[in-house]
Amino acid sequence: MAFLRKIRVMTVPPLTWPALAALALLLAALALSPSAAMVSLYYGKPLQGMTIALDPGHGGIDSGAHHESLLLEKEIVLEIGLQLRRLLEQGGARVMITREKDEELSKHCPDEGMARHRRDIRGRVKLINTSQAHLFISLHINSIHDPSVRGPIAFYAPGKPESKRLAGTVHDALNPLFSADAKAGQLVHQAPQESSAFFILNETEMPGILLEIAFITNPDDRALLQGKPFRKKIARAIYLGLAEYACGEEDP
Ligand SMILES: [Zn+2]
Repeated sequence: MAFLRKIRVMTVPPLTWPALAALALLLAALALSPSAAMVSLYYGKPLQGMTIALDPGHGGIDSGAHHESLLLEKEIVLEIGLQLRRLLEQGGARVMITREKDEELSKHCPDEGMARHRRDIRGRVKLINTSQAHLFISLHINSIHDPSVRGPIAFYAPGKPESKRLAGTVHDALNPLFSADAKAGQLVHQAPQESSAFFILNETEMPGILLEIAFITNPDDRALLQGKPFRKKIARAIYLGLAEYACGEEDP
C-alpha cells in the first residue's frame, strides 16, 4: 500500500542574534536541570509558611561519633545544618536551629542535679517545643562495630504517623546518595526505622525525625562525609525530602 507523507513547510520568522542567544541559554538551562519539578523545588517557595526546627547534634565538649579525632560528628552535622537552613529559608521556611556554633546546650536546662548530657538533650527539646515549628529534624552521624554497614537511617517515634511520613520522604531523598555506589557485602539501610529509644523523639510535640546521615565507621561513608561538596549534596537531599513532605498528602 502506498504511503503518502505530507510534507509541511514551516516558515519561521527570522530571529535576531540576541533572541537566538537567549533561546540557546534557555535550552541549555533546561538540559542541565533534572526535571521541571526539581526546578520548582529549588527555585520556588515550596515551604512558604512553614517553621522548621533543625537540631545539629552534640557540640562543645561532646564531639559525638568520631574517627581518629580528625572527623567529628559535631562538626559535620553543624555544617550540614547551616547549609540546610540556608536552603530552607530560600524555599520560604522560617528556621530555628538549636545551635549555630560549636557548643553544647545544657545551659538551656539549668538543673544542677542532672548530668550534663541529660540537660543537653532536655535543652534541645525545650528549644524545639518553644519554636512552634511544624516539624523538626535532629541531625546525627552513626557508628557501629561492623564497618560494612553504611547509609542513612531516619528514626521516628511510634504512634506518630506524620513523623513516619517525614522519615519516608527524607530517607527516599537521601538514600540514593549512598546506595548508588554500594559494593557487594555492604548493607545500606533502605528503610526508616521506628524507635521509642530516643528522648528527643518521644518528648517533642510536632512531627520530627532523628536522622543518622551515614556511618562514620564505614570507610566509604567516611570518605564521602569528609568532602564538603558531598555535605552540600546531603543538605540538598534533605531539603528535597522536606519539600516533598510539605507538598504531599497526609496519610488517611
Ligand atoms: Zn549523634
